[in-house]
Amino acid sequence: MKLAVNGGKKVREKPFPAYNTIGQEEEEAVLRVLRSGKLSTFLGTWHNDFFGGYEVRALEEEWADFFGAKYAVSMNSATSCLFAAVGAIGINPGDEVIVSPYTMSATASAILLYGGIPVFADIEEDYFCLDPKDVERKITSKTKAIITVDIFGGVSDFENLSQIAKEHNLKIIEDTAQAPYAKLGDKFAGTLGDIGIFSLNYHKHIHSGEGGVAVTDDKELADKLRLIRNHAEAVLGARGYSSKKELNNMLGFNFRMTEVEAAISREQLKKLKTLVETRRENVAYLEEKLSSFQFLKMTKVRENSTHSYYIHPLIFDENKAGIDRNSFIDAVKAELPRTILRDESEVLLSYGYVKPLYKLPIYQERVCFGEYPFGLSDVDYTKIKCEVCEDMHYNKLVTHEFMRPGMDKDDMDDVVKAFEKVWENIDEIRK
Ligand SMILES: *Cc1c(COP(=O)(O)O)cnc(C)c1O
Repeated sequence: MKLAVNGGKKVREKPFPAYNTIGQEEEEAVLRVLRSGKLSTFLGTWHNDFFGGYEVRALEEEWADFFGAKYAVSMNSATSCLFAAVGAIGINPGDEVIVSPYTMSATASAILLYGGIPVFADIEEDYFCLDPKDVERKITSKTKAIITVDIFGGVSDFENLSQIAKEHNLKIIEDTAQAPYAKLGDKFAGTLGDIGIFSLNYHKHIHSGEGGVAVTDDKELADKLRLIRNHAEAVLGARGYSSKKELNNMLGFNFRMTEVEAAISREQLKKLKTLVETRRENVAYLEEKLSSFQFLKMTKVRENSTHSYYIHPLIFDENKAGIDRNSFIDAVKAELPRTILRDESEVLLSYGYVKPLYKLPIYQERVCFGEYPFGLSDVDYTKIKCEVCEDMHYNKLVTHEFMRPGMDKDDMDDVVKAFEKVWENIDEIRK
């Protein structure tokens, strides 16, 4: 049978169902806010409304309660939460923060905003999260914090990271944008470090268009997050803050969430459990079939943890397949339809994720705010090589989203058929 990459007929033409978590509950929530006329009641001066409106506060209470955190602080994005978190933990110019290179760019740029120097440590081969052993190697007298990413929906190795942080007196920010509802032991991802960050952007498990929530058990950090979110410098005097230490990093922003987004988010939170559980069921169904391919290694889930499957990562063995990963995946992609509700041209299958962050021009050229803050450090990002991360990204990792709720067994069977067809006709594409 001629492969679609070579001009043959695709396994499937009909688009896969869209992933849409928005329903009548959200519609009613939005109408409730619209009819109230109060689309946001935040005030950037010292006032009861400094903490936001009814929906914002209700969301924060429900979010903290759901995840078992003492405080939740909503913002207009997870990026804003990351920026505020780096400010709140007190990163100063020249401080080093160890971060994963395999993540969305904002995880590391948050460090730069406060003049910190991102130090990239390698990831684990099995779980793609920060490798505690490499984190330890990267610690210097300037290291102040670690930002770990629960990438693809899997939890970071907090057993070891927490230990390292304790020994070296480091703070940990946990970027849980991709892993809501994942757990390590009986604790939710996001509650394992000093501050955890969740995203509510359109592409995440649950969303409000744009939005984010930071959680913490530390009252002082929660206060700082709320200050940075809402024009800190305008209210500091009024709160009686005066010492130089308390003013540190208290340049405020407008990172506030509107009532509309908060109302939507409250409804979305109620759906999170079911949405993640459906992803787990779909992954189990797909893995049962895909694991018959000797050249594909299924997702390894860390012991004593659960996975949220924002993305389903597979590892491709080109020696076993007798072909390179990209040629194989290009052939599978050609067999499958594009999916609506995303970029029209996208098939929800790719090789790798984002390229290691240190490859981005901002790091390679060491230009951010002019020479600041890179001028405070002699780190040369052109010499950095996180071996595991690069091998995963450029040679081995396969990522897909065919487990999104809305996909039924027939849909997933078509995905498996595409893999089967390419494998059965592999000689057509072997060089
Ligand atoms: C999506 C994402 C972010 C940013 O979230 P926004 O809400 O879009 O700002 C940060 N980190 C990771 C790992 C993400 O996946």
